[in-house]
Amino acid sequence: MNLLEALFSGAKAFVKELVSVARTVVREVLKEVDQSAFGRSATRLVDGIADRYFTQARDLSEEESELAEKSRRDGLRTEADAERLREIAAERERVRAKMERINAERSAQDLRDHADETLVARLDDDELSSTVGILAAKVCPACGGTMRIRQGPVASDTGIRRFYWQCTEPNLPMCPYVKLDPSKVNAGVVRLADPDLDTPKEQRRAVWNRNDVIAETHGRVRQHLGDDDKQVVCPRHLLPMKLLPKRNQGGRVLDSYEYVCLGVTTDGKACEYKIDLQTMPQVAAMLRRTEGEGIIRH
Ligand SMILES: [Zn+2]
Ligand SMILES: [Zn+2]
Repeated sequence: MNLLEALFSGAKAFVKELVSVARTVVREVLKEVDQSAFGRSATRLVDGIADRYFTQARDLSEEESELAEKSRRDGLRTEADAERLREIAAERERVRAKMERINAERSAQDLRDHADETLVARLDDDELSSTVGILAAKVCPACGGTMRIRQGPVASDTGIRRFYWQCTEPNLPMCPYVKLDPSKVNAGVVRLADPDLDTPKEQRRAVWNRNDVIAETHGRVRQHLGDDDKQVVCPRHLLPMKLLPKRNQGGRVLDSYEYVCLGVTTDGKACEYKIDLQTMPQVAAMLRRTEGEGIIRH
């Protein structure tokens, strides 16, 4: 039937169309996952397996940063160092492939393990926003790489935020974006219950906008500053990104923080890849990942 659009860790899948009753959708998606290359894996993944690849990625980044520092100090880069930088890039691509594979297998396993607890909902902008920056098991149509959802600004004419799929491969030129407009298609999401997203839209937004809720939420967010988020990974360096205050912070919970990567480029500049924390569904999802509970709690 080809329903599966993308798979995320934590037993979450996007489906292209809400064609039939919920149970059938979940069953179809499971079948498709089991038939996929990553879904057939027989090995059961254990916690911490992805950490090995983060360690390898970190070692590569540290070496890259030392080489950048050395060439700045010496005012030149030796042929041996240039060659080593090429090796680092090649090694990183091998780590990337393994990391993506593990992520896809883990996501398949999560869905299989928790399929009975999942529900099916219509895909809307809040659902999309809650997955921004998270590595998805979704194949880039241009190069076969892994994709993730990014969010653009709110369109001034419609008041609707724009979303798109972005390829994470370091291709030049970059692979084309794939537009995502939940209002145009009858797309859905299979996922575990989540009070933030299960509460009807008007109602949840009313709660998210309450001053006491914002103040409490802001306090919770501050406690995670400086933490690595293993689900938000820099596509350039493959390092978990850190939630940090923005340089020009606005003072409010939605205009003050961003995920940054501490890697450096081969010429010693700070990595430019960033993800703004700018919507309440993003904040709720971050709190759910780190504390087990989002903003709306039952
Ligand atoms: Zn691509
Ligand atoms: Zn980076």
